[in-house]
Amino acid sequence: MRVLRVALDLPLHRLFDYVVESASPDDIGLRVRVPFGRGEKLGVIVEVLAESDWPLEQLKPAIEILRDLLPLPADFFRLCQFASAYYQAALGEVIMQALPVGLKRLDPPTRRNARASRPSVALAPPALTQEQTIAVAAVDPAAGFSAHLLHGVTGSGKTEVYLRLVERALADGKQVLLLVPEINLTPQLEGRVRSRFPDAGVVSLHSELAEAARERNWRAAFSGEASIVLGTRLSIFTPMPRLGLIVVDEEHDASFKQQDGMRYSARDVAVFRAHQLGIPVLLGSATPSLETWANAQSKRYNLITLLERANPEASLPAIHILDTRKMVLQEGVGAPLVAAIKERLARGEQSLVFLNRRGYSPVLACPACGWVSRCTRCAANMVLHLADKRLRCHHCGCEHRIPKACPTCGNQDIHPFGRGTQRLEGWLQETFPEARVLRVDRDSVKSRKQWEVMLDRIHGGEADILVGTQMLAKGHDFPKLTLVGVLGADSALFAADWRAPERLFAQLMQVAGRAGRAELKGEVQIQTQYPDHPLFASLVKHDYPGFAAEQLKEREQAGFPPYAFQAVLRAEAPEMADAIAFLKTAAAMPLIGEHENIMIYDPVPMKLARLANLERGQLLAESYSRPALQAFLPLWREAIEGIKSPSKLRWHIEVDPLEF
Ligand code: ADP
Ligand code: ZN
Ligand code: ZN
Repeated sequence: MRVLRVALDLPLHRLFDYVVESASPDDIGLRVRVPFGRGEKLGVIVEVLAESDWPLEQLKPAIEILRDLLPLPADFFRLCQFASAYYQAALGEVIMQALPVGLKRLDPPTRRNARASRPSVALAPPALTQEQTIAVAAVDPAAGFSAHLLHGVTGSGKTEVYLRLVERALADGKQVLLLVPEINLTPQLEGRVRSRFPDAGVVSLHSELAEAARERNWRAAFSGEASIVLGTRLSIFTPMPRLGLIVVDEEHDASFKQQDGMRYSARDVAVFRAHQLGIPVLLGSATPSLETWANAQSKRYNLITLLERANPEASLPAIHILDTRKMVLQEGVGAPLVAAIKERLARGEQSLVFLNRRGYSPVLACPACGWVSRCTRCAANMVLHLADKRLRCHHCGCEHRIPKACPTCGNQDIHPFGRGTQRLEGWLQETFPEARVLRVDRDSVKSRKQWEVMLDRIHGGEADILVGTQMLAKGHDFPKLTLVGVLGADSALFAADWRAPERLFAQLMQVAGRAGRAELKGEVQIQTQYPDHPLFASLVKHDYPGFAAEQLKEREQAGFPPYAFQAVLRAEAPEMADAIAFLKTAAAMPLIGEHENIMIYDPVPMKLARLANLERGQLLAESYSRPALQAFLPLWREAIEGIKSPSKLRWHIEVDPLEF
């Protein structure tokens, strides 16, 4: 008799023991079917033991050990153990979330074999610039673990640096994991990597892949058959037997943070994984997160800088700050921007009008009684979508028809309030009847396929004026685009969220980087009522280091991250009073008094206090010492597990939260 200790996909901080006739330590890492409750579950064998903490006769026998996959390796378990401990997540959940859905099924569909990829000829790389040469040389794979920040302005050729490092790793017989933000995983990048390394077996891993494709790609990475994995955050846990380099592109991007289930930062896990394996990790960005920048300043990370655009013909765009207090605006657009668009039209170049979405989503309002279209399930307004004539809640997704009259007073003259991309699109089309106006937002682009088609149209010169939100800001090269106009930036300047300036700066640098990527000179116009704000002074000079220094000074004075370490306990329940009472109990636990380095704040409702009919509250725990916080959290979590709470109450802990 042997005991299998099994990880199951449950939010419980324990593993489950089963008995089998025979098993050996070589079976650790195999999947196993086990009875659970009245049914059956699929888990992963974490240990094979002779004894259990329970009498053997009380343990149920496992049903079947699956041997269609090689055992998950020891370094995979080490990584999952780290994530479980660091993020206060159940080990079983961490292990199971790392597997593609297809491998977690009890009744797997029959698999088709992977299509053989066509052999092709590798595209020749360009000669590196001097800065790129220095950057590539700075990463020494023979030196064991090293973390690097590649800080390079948009268009400075960071991708080329990644590709050279990939090339070297492949030559050494290693695998490479290239992490990219959700939105950047366009066929363009994949195509670029594939055409450079046609024989490396490039696979992508992201949430939009069909189940079968994802399993196939995951297996190729795990077997070592694929040497390059191009993936979004979920791919950071993919076991890869010969992993020799991790690259995180756009490391500041919010999509590296998982916001539900196990809440983790794939960027931070990447650094930890590289550390465990003794390999280099490279984080790249034009506007690094302030956490990463602080690590580079303190020399924990090696800083590599690209100051020039790689294409010698391309220069950084001129950024102009336009004071809207001195102009008449039409649909939010000032005369200088109108004139600049006209010039571009005359020259056959493209313009982009970029809306900072916050403050730009139109809601429906009644001028007579003050009614606004609020979501009945959330503490949020419903947004007006003219194209399909619906009101939609962007938080819970519920939607309604547009009412013909005010539901409160019956007034038939109800108006959209706030400007949306659709209204702006309409106005631009009226103002420039000869121009082809193309709107790019979540409404016009719903799937990856539509996104590809849209990008092809833009590249093919089928649009003169683009109107868009975040989607257009990142990672795209439109050679004919020479003008970017930014509307609605101000709402982020004075937001309560102290991370808002960091995000705004990154976003404005990104979107400005769209202008003048090729030979044509780019211009950026940012409309604001606060032209003297210091953020704009840094922006005009393309001075990220200056901006970061200013922000870090403020954070240090205020005692915010990265100078403090945080975790947040959140509770949600049908009644806010229940959520807050639960948090109050958690805030008053005696063990807190034994940890003098830990500061616990008062429970408060979350910014979006009601979501999908649940009231949400939170409690911040903070320390100036990360080890102190890490020592406190598991004890606190265990104590919280003992709190008696209403059955509908749910809670979780998030470590290093980005949003409150
Ligand atoms: P980033 O990722 O820093 O925004 P990219 O790697 O996309 O920049 O490079 C920007 C542009 O410069 C691309 O069109 C790329 O082909 C070109 N480029 C990159 N490196 C070189 C080089 N060494 N010589 C010539 N062109 C280059
Ligand atoms: Zn009314
Ligand atoms: Zn809602």
